[in-house]
Amino acid sequence: MDVTNMNLDTIEERLRTDYELPGDFVFWKWRCFPETGRTIYVEFTGGRCPLVKRGRRAGKPNYLRASDRRVFNVPVQEADQWEREYEEATGSCRHCRGSGQRLSRIDLVKHATEYRECYDCRGSGQSQKRRKEMRGDE
Ligand SMILES: [Zn+2]
Repeated sequence: MDVTNMNLDTIEERLRTDYELPGDFVFWKWRCFPETGRTIYVEFTGGRCPLVKRGRRAGKPNYLRASDRRVFNVPVQEADQWEREYEEATGSCRHCRGSGQRLSRIDLVKHATEYRECYDCRGSGQSQKRRKEMRGDE
């Protein structure tokens, strides 16, 4: 499994549930190990963050005041398994989580985010199993 393909939302959701992380816990750092070559595990770092009270970033997590920092090492095989379980439970495509779209590019200058059709489900948002079932019904 290619790490760029790992769905961070699915993994974070799973860590949240399995470790009973509090509601104000946010992840802010993701790192692949080893740093060169094929990834064996991904390190997820986060902590409890109060929300920014005023200004442009009001309502967003205040990382500077984070506490209870925690680090989780997720082996790629485990992430893969969690994504399979997600797909099984929801019937949604594990790569785009049912949206049918995937991030294609972030332009920091124009503050623009571009999406393209998810190539795994061809924009349907359906899990592989469900797509097979639909084809079988035709
Ligand atoms: Zn998809």
